[in-house]
Amino acid sequence: MGLMVYNTLTKSKVPFETIEEGKVRLYLCGPTVYDLLHIGNFRGAIFFNMLRNWLEELDYKVDFVYNYTDVDDKIINKANAEGVEPSVISERYIKEFETDFNRLGLKPHDHNPKVTDFIPNIIEFVSTLVEKEKAYVIDGEVFYSIDSFETYGKLSGKKIDDLEAGQRVDVDTRKKNPFDFVLWKPSKEGEPSWDSPWGGGRPGWHIECSAMIKEILGDSIDIHGGGIDLIFPHHENEIAQGEGATGKTYCHYWMHNEFINLNDEKMSKSIGNVITGRAFMDKYDPEILKFLYLSVHYRTMMNINEEKINGSICGLSRFYNAIIVANQVSQYDGTGGVVNKKFEEALLTLEKKLAKGMNDDFNTAEAIASLFEGVRTFNALNLKTKQKDVNSCATAIYFKEWIVKFGKMMSLFQRDPKEFLMRLDDILLKEKGLDRVTVDSLVEQRNQARKQKDWASADDLRAQLSDMGIELQDGNLEIPWEVKK
Ligand code: AMP
Ligand code: ZN
Repeated sequence: MGLMVYNTLTKSKVPFETIEEGKVRLYLCGPTVYDLLHIGNFRGAIFFNMLRNWLEELDYKVDFVYNYTDVDDKIINKANAEGVEPSVISERYIKEFETDFNRLGLKPHDHNPKVTDFIPNIIEFVSTLVEKEKAYVIDGEVFYSIDSFETYGKLSGKKIDDLEAGQRVDVDTRKKNPFDFVLWKPSKEGEPSWDSPWGGGRPGWHIECSAMIKEILGDSIDIHGGGIDLIFPHHENEIAQGEGATGKTYCHYWMHNEFINLNDEKMSKSIGNVITGRAFMDKYDPEILKFLYLSVHYRTMMNINEEKINGSICGLSRFYNAIIVANQVSQYDGTGGVVNKKFEEALLTLEKKLAKGMNDDFNTAEAIASLFEGVRTFNALNLKTKQKDVNSCATAIYFKEWIVKFGKMMSLFQRDPKEFLMRLDDILLKEKGLDRVTVDSLVEQRNQARKQKDWASADDLRAQLSDMGIELQDGNLEIPWEVKK
């Protein structure tokens, strides 16, 4: 069975077929660059990156656009508060985003357009909508007339008659329909402004994505992504703009990732429970964030708490420990070695299972479960005890290549295993209020006691370390101790 994708538009899983054979035009709504991104904002970036990798695994050529919204009230407000130009704020936070994104170790997008670089395209787009009588102008302001677009509401399932305008916001009485939305508006004092046929002004929010998509990817795209909060009105309005202007299907597959909650609460500045991606990566690690997100299906709401984070640390430690064993066993010259046949077959079966999960609307949870099964099967071979054997060596190399290949597709398991396991231990030590120097010193004291054949002291020290949550790995010169997970 080929790739099946859940399409928000049809609310069903459907076979994936591209507009152009072998090519995928992919657009993901990017961040408004006025602050550091919080961990929730990174769910889309991480998921759609993996989606791109899987499409490439299926031999599609993917053209991936992730934009920066650099015209926005929040940017303007911050600029005014600091007494600088809005571009100073947006450029600063684009750089900060790039720092965080690079740290996540995700493959760069093919295009990262900024709205301010596309103003002429936006003006042209709005002009087309005015000419086609999809939009109308009042006092230098241009509105999209949703009544001119018959299928308005098809993405969100909202019916215009059911929408209750003015319940929470003041209705602009100049509009033909209270849900008509702004395409272009006059700039106020202190706001950035561009000349246009309707006077000096700036674009509304929704038009930027349609204009950038048209310019970079064309009239029709294959996949458009974003968080579920963007379905209405943002994406609904994008369809009205795109299809209103060209008469062609704007996007074939709409994909939306669910939200992230923190300790059972919605992350919000007013609650004060917002964790930036950067703070999370400093306290934990980028690998933990990616592993957390990908171990759950993207359409499942995810609640992050300490237990889940520790579960991810434990899971990652199992993967990296297996890679260490594979590295140790494969150090031997394995020329002429043969891969364990049963093991090879087991991995091939798991590979099929993994592909089935991924082709079922990108079920990364199932893919990770298959990789875990691969680790269990590898551990069961107990190659640690069969080192210096050409066949063990060939089998270890086979396993390592397997795990690293599929790990790469998820941007996981590419780190130096020893360093990474030490990093995990450091995180856990910090949680326990311990540090590496203290543990190392106790371990050294025990080594000395053993050297002097003072078995009683050695046992006491082992017990003391064990009570502290430290597990000794006698005989393992590379990793002599580990924090219990
Ligand atoms: P915002 O800065 O709130 O406009 O959000 C930027 C992007 O992050 C949008 O695609 C949102 O859908 C997404 N997003 C915001 N909050 C969360 C969250 N808690 N979990 C997942 N995605 C989120
Ligand atoms: Zn957008």
